[in-house]
Amino acid sequence: MATKRQKAYQDVLNRTPKHIDYDGKVSELFGKSVFHLEIMREYLPSDAFKSMIESIQNGTRLDRKMADQVASAMKDWALTKGATHYTHWFQPLTGSTAEKHDAFFKPVGPGKAIERFDGDLLVQQEPDASSFPNGGIRNTFEARGYTAWDPSSPAFVIGKTLCIPTIFISYTGESLDYKMPLLKALNAVDQAAVDVCQYFDKNVTKVNATLGWEQEYFLIDQALFNARPDLMMTGRALFGHAAAKGQQLEDHYFGSIPERVTAYMRDFETEAIQLGIPVTTRHNEVAPNQFECAPIFEECNLANDHNLMLMDLMEKIARKHDFRVLLHEKPFSGVNGSGKHNNWSLATNTGVNLLAPGKNPKSNLQFLTFFVNTIKAIHDHSDILRACIASAGNDHRLGANEAPPAIISAFIGTQLSTLLDDIELNVKAGKMTPEDKTELKLNIGKIPQIMLDNTDRNRTSPFAFTGNKFEFRAVGSSANCASAMIVLNTIMAKQLKVFKKSVDVRIDKGESKDEAILKELQKLIKESKKIRFEGNGYGDEWVKDAEKRGLKNLKDTPRALQVWADKHVVKLFDEMGILTPRELEARQEIEFENYIMKVQIEARIMGDVINSMIIPAVVNYQNVLLQNIQGLIDVLGAKAGKEAANTQIELIQRIAIHMNKMKAAADTMLMARKDANKLGHSEDKAFAYCDKVRVHFDEIRYHVDKLEMLVDDELWPLPKFREMLFTR
Ligand code: ADP
Ligand code: MG
Repeated sequence: MATKRQKAYQDVLNRTPKHIDYDGKVSELFGKSVFHLEIMREYLPSDAFKSMIESIQNGTRLDRKMADQVASAMKDWALTKGATHYTHWFQPLTGSTAEKHDAFFKPVGPGKAIERFDGDLLVQQEPDASSFPNGGIRNTFEARGYTAWDPSSPAFVIGKTLCIPTIFISYTGESLDYKMPLLKALNAVDQAAVDVCQYFDKNVTKVNATLGWEQEYFLIDQALFNARPDLMMTGRALFGHAAAKGQQLEDHYFGSIPERVTAYMRDFETEAIQLGIPVTTRHNEVAPNQFECAPIFEECNLANDHNLMLMDLMEKIARKHDFRVLLHEKPFSGVNGSGKHNNWSLATNTGVNLLAPGKNPKSNLQFLTFFVNTIKAIHDHSDILRACIASAGNDHRLGANEAPPAIISAFIGTQLSTLLDDIELNVKAGKMTPEDKTELKLNIGKIPQIMLDNTDRNRTSPFAFTGNKFEFRAVGSSANCASAMIVLNTIMAKQLKVFKKSVDVRIDKGESKDEAILKELQKLIKESKKIRFEGNGYGDEWVKDAEKRGLKNLKDTPRALQVWADKHVVKLFDEMGILTPRELEARQEIEFENYIMKVQIEARIMGDVINSMIIPAVVNYQNVLLQNIQGLIDVLGAKAGKEAANTQIELIQRIAIHMNKMKAAADTMLMARKDANKLGHSEDKAFAYCDKVRVHFDEIRYHVDKLEMLVDDELWPLPKFREMLFTR
């Protein structure tokens, strides 16, 4: 009789690519399901349209009358798209998105009904949200949480539902989501950057942070996925011997994409494009069955909403193609994990990318100002950057010789390094002569030329300058980018404010503006030197070097999460108006809880799979061997029979050793889990799960993977890596 695994694999062999209906130009679909500005112009009276623009650009509140008009227009438009329901779409701290659907339909008398949606329903909703994580902010008796409309991200229709992007806050006004602090951080960096831009260009009145994410993922056939409880419940293979052929040939990377996969990609991209997500890039990634999807960058809040929408779409549409998408950071040990590079920059209303070198000395000084301030921000707050990307999944990836290390550093390339060194050495103390200034300006003026051949991109750095943006590479593939973007924009805002103040003091003392800026930059360059690292971030030498430099190496999530309680971190978020001490504490608590749950579930699944799948399979095989040995003895007699059964006997012994060691390690882990569960404080519990429970995973896995190699392939219950990782 075939095992579940064999049946599943048979299914896989019979699969053919799914047919995609749409054959037209995708450009014609772009934004079709979005209530964007052009649609608003068409559907809204002109005063309501003006209020909307005002609200989108400056965050001003719409009054009741306008909100009613917008709601009514939104509904009329959504009905033309076939929508029957609406939902406030929000980002609770679970990490995914949430929605609660309500019908437009409203009975108004016997046999009579209308489609209703007004300003009240648009602006605010009270979902029954008592089960979303709140870190102790909402007592259950005041379990109410509100969602409130975010006009800066347009509403959209998915299926038959109008989705309205919202923030999620408690009854007492504390944020319970990612969006609200993100909007605050974006606002903070806007103000701080506009102030600094005034030194260079008085026309700058608005600065937007931009985000271009790159989403990596694995695809696994649905049948194989369903035959692996570990993948189903935790998103990663807790067991599994590496396939004989892994990624060493590098034949998958940028190779041709299998047809079944192309069909899937086309399908979700088409949907994404209708939702206004400008996805343009798709390719194979390094590991077999690993892929990447990336859009053109957008304003940060919108880009982040789009990433969350896309992750959702990818999961939904994968099922249509008999795939499951794995967004986990490390689904398969032995091959690369998945990240989500966050490309970040700042753009002005005048169309300037503040992190792109300009055409003349003046704009280059502006570039240099934002560039150096970013490095200083990273230097001063590297621990928070580490904390904001910490998760149980990302722990398997960071520092795994394929992903950025857990040590935060910044890579800027040799040319810019030389330039910064130059400024550090050559800006003279005391008053600068006109010649000094001219020389420096000349140097700065050369930036665009030197940048042209800035090709030495370092893939091993967690935070790299890539010509016209920084790329934060340590973000995990399943993460909400907001977590990283809240931190990056907050620390940048803080740094720019400090910078502005210092430059103003110098100007007040009589230094010229350019001189004041240059001298301040020189100071920042000196102070932030240790965060700059151009070498190989994967090497062991870097770990030692980083330690000498005094850079922190927070190796796992619990240690990284402790940062949120540091005095300077609490103060920073409070004074910048992003998160109150209470909100921050709640977030830390939630993160600890998330970590505990993730590791706990993995530990449980390990136990279940061992007891109910591995041990029975191994015993079955032992019985086969025993029968065979007994048969040989029966036929050949005891001595000759045993001799003839040498291989089988040895195999039985090896199997027994691994099975017993596996079971012993699993039992020890179980005891450790019981002890951990007794701890009341979530921080202690997270540490116990990390240091006492999780530490047994590798040993357990080692023995299971050995057994996989010893037991008859026909009897092994779990789909193997070679079956899962090579879609044809
Ligand atoms: P890779 O890192 O894979 O080599 P690229 O360097 O080509 O990729 O670009 C990666 C991403 O950077 C793209 O998704 C693009 O949208 C984004 N990007 C480009 N310019 C900016 C910018 N000014 N702000 C934010 N993201 C940007
Ligand atoms: Mg990249």
